[in-house]
Amino acid sequence: MYSQMHSLLIKDSALVTGDGKTFVDRVNIVIQGNKIVYIGHEKPSGLRFTHILEGKDKLVLPGIINIHAHGIVPGAPLFSSASAPLPGDQAKKNLETHFNQGTTTILNLDGFAHPGLIPQAKHTCPINLKTATTHYPKAYLAARRIDASGLKDQREEKIEKIIESFPKIVVAIGEAGSGATLGGGVQDYKFIPEMVKKETGVLIDEYQARRLKEAILGKKIASDFYDPERVENVLKEIGLENYSPEWAFDKISQTVLPPFGISLEALEEGAHLAKKYTLPLIVHTAASSIDRVEGISWLGNLLIAGHCNHPSLEMKESIVLIRRLREKGVTIDISTFDTLDSKEREKELDSFFAILESRLADVVSTDYGGGNHSPILKVLELAVSQKVVTLPEAISLVTKNPSHAIPRLAPGRGVIVRGAIADLVIVDRSKISRVKELIIGGIPWRRTN
Ligand SMILES: [Zn+2]
Repeated sequence: MYSQMHSLLIKDSALVTGDGKTFVDRVNIVIQGNKIVYIGHEKPSGLRFTHILEGKDKLVLPGIINIHAHGIVPGAPLFSSASAPLPGDQAKKNLETHFNQGTTTILNLDGFAHPGLIPQAKHTCPINLKTATTHYPKAYLAARRIDASGLKDQREEKIEKIIESFPKIVVAIGEAGSGATLGGGVQDYKFIPEMVKKETGVLIDEYQARRLKEAILGKKIASDFYDPERVENVLKEIGLENYSPEWAFDKISQTVLPPFGISLEALEEGAHLAKKYTLPLIVHTAASSIDRVEGISWLGNLLIAGHCNHPSLEMKESIVLIRRLREKGVTIDISTFDTLDSKEREKELDSFFAILESRLADVVSTDYGGGNHSPILKVLELAVSQKVVTLPEAISLVTKNPSHAIPRLAPGRGVIVRGAIADLVIVDRSKISRVKELIIGGIPWRRTN
């Protein structure tokens, strides 16, 4: 029904196409139905538009494609620990936050989310939402060794059935491991503070938890790292001077270690499933898991090494690892975490920018640092203003590249060309983090706040 199809004109706007190179100014973009049908300097004639957007002072980008998010599917268990779903409508709010920051496609990496929950979540937000899965035996085992309260008495789903029954929703395997089972961030902001509170009544924050954990097990999470004197000093600094290093060793080990070994083995199991189904595998890359991640680099471009800028890795360590993974064709992802609000902001930004500047990252995503994330466009805006990368390069890391890395996530999207699906974000020309409007499948949406 050509004549009733709605049509939209964006007039006189600047445009970054997403291909990594192209910036053009004062173009007209015509959308019919869900497709981009014209991009150019001519004034399209003979068409009646249902919407006209004035593009002066604006910049059009492909909608952002974020391949690493948690806590966005209402009712879904969280992380590789299958922890209880977020309370109330927090997951819905998290999804809206991503939308308001310019994201039009998002991949849920809470791998125990049942794909049946995805269509319901889509009712609450127009964002194109897909999921990854970790419904396989060793991942279940790791979750049950630490939490699994989000699974309750649900029977274990078989990944074969999950993948075969929901081919349009399940587009990757992951997150294989996560801070929750591999001694990372979720331990620092959730499990360790919960344990300390329960055992001592003392409230510690995520930084203090990380210090204590690293004093006892090191960044690589190894029980032979233990040195009582070092632990005693940290206990004093964080207000636990009445407790002995031996006590701390036992308690931290009991909290962090039970799921650890099996969660590392789950990376390998995930790799074989990825190969079998030709689905990308997204893994938790951190100091504790890098050897295993390298061990499955035979997957080549089916392997996506998640957040290679993880705070447990020193900048140099990250770069050495990334170069080795790239030789095998592995896709390199770096995450914004909560970097802009982090106490270690400078150090985290240095590492993030060093990787960008060396052109070693393929994809930028958010992840969920401490339950929060720094907006992708805000971090990229900073990188561009400091001349770390060009604007077209920065944008391709969150549009074309993620679309290529996970082919079924956002087919037909990621680059603004004739014939592509019209998922666009319209931002302030002088400040790309200021999102004005989103277009998803040809339909314009205003930000919800
Ligand atoms: Zn992770």
